[in-house]
Amino acid sequence: MKGNQARIYLSNLEHNIRQIKKNIGKAKLCVSVKANAYGHGDIIVARKAVESGADCLAVSSVAEGRRLRDAEIKEPILLFGLTVPEEIPEAVRGNLTPFVCDTEYIDALNKSAASYVQAMRDTGAAVHKFPVHLKIDTGMGRIGCKSEDAAFLASYINRCENLYLAGMCTHLCVSDSLEPEDIEYTQRQIRLFRDSVEAVKKAGINPGILHCSASGGTLMYPNAVFDMVRTGILVYGYFPSEQAAECRTSFNLKPVMELTASVVGIKTVEKGDSVSYGRTWTAAQKTRIATLGIGYGDGIPRRLCPGLHVNIRGKNYPVVGRICMDQCMVDIGLEDEIERWDDAYIFGCQKNCCGADEVAKIADMISYEILTGISARVPRIIVP
Ligand SMILES: *Cc1c(COP(=O)(O)O)cnc(C)c1O
Repeated sequence: MKGNQARIYLSNLEHNIRQIKKNIGKAKLCVSVKANAYGHGDIIVARKAVESGADCLAVSSVAEGRRLRDAEIKEPILLFGLTVPEEIPEAVRGNLTPFVCDTEYIDALNKSAASYVQAMRDTGAAVHKFPVHLKIDTGMGRIGCKSEDAAFLASYINRCENLYLAGMCTHLCVSDSLEPEDIEYTQRQIRLFRDSVEAVKKAGINPGILHCSASGGTLMYPNAVFDMVRTGILVYGYFPSEQAAECRTSFNLKPVMELTASVVGIKTVEKGDSVSYGRTWTAAQKTRIATLGIGYGDGIPRRLCPGLHVNIRGKNYPVVGRICMDQCMVDIGLEDEIERWDDAYIFGCQKNCCGADEVAKIADMISYEILTGISARVPRIIVP
């Protein structure tokens, strides 16, 4: 018995990165390793991504960036999220490249960057200022400045003693959809982004590296690749949406994570016997129940039952009764040869085994949620 495992297939990660690179020509690739690399393990994924051709990495918090720097990862790291003021000195120390979109935040960064700039001067490096990327909100409604403020903010950044504009970016919010109004909205976002860039150039400012696509845009909008794409979910082997998967069937992805649990016990139940909390399931006939040592505390949401099936010895069986914190139960029938300590595949890359996207669909979730939800107590086993 191995117990619960999230096996991380690094060769699949490399395969996915190759697929993405084939699609973006000479543009750079930024791999999103936020949220512990979507649950896969941030440091191991970051190293493998760089080895496989990623030019830069991205995190969402300063603490996530710190972990990568502590692991001696030297590549540029974009900081997707805004931080609180207390974290800004740490972001600068870690050389995390922040997205900025207002003068208050830019001022705070400029102040903290003084020590960085001094240190760079001392080493005699060519670039003395601290790089930031200007984020434009072209319709995501999350973070970013208005398109019409781009030129002002770009010049504000470059007038800061310790900062320079190293890039401009935006984020698309329906780029994984094929609905006509979504396509129109996305084209409008791309247009607004181009306009912002033009305005900055017109003001005599170099906009730096331009990027706007995450996985959705990378797949569906070749006109939005610009100088770099920022992909997450594709790297981990999943499409950002069903529509994207259907329209890009030639884009071959391999799931990186495989989640298995062990059958920790098997018992026979009689017709009418109930299983688990709330007695929501009763046996329609005599059958065998396999108990797995995995539950919602490991990241298998209760809402996945009914619906979730696990694969044991190549065949799928339904999870029955409520999923508990540490265990769940599977109806394995009376006929099939299944033994205690067998592996049950919950999702992954094995034949006949469903993907995290299919699991997610049962509960109206997305693969991102399932992957990032696999909790820390499930050991990550690296398969080279
Ligand atoms: C998370 C994130 C991405 C990556 O998104 P995927 O859909 O996983 O490719 C890219 N850009 C930003 C700003 C993000 O927050």
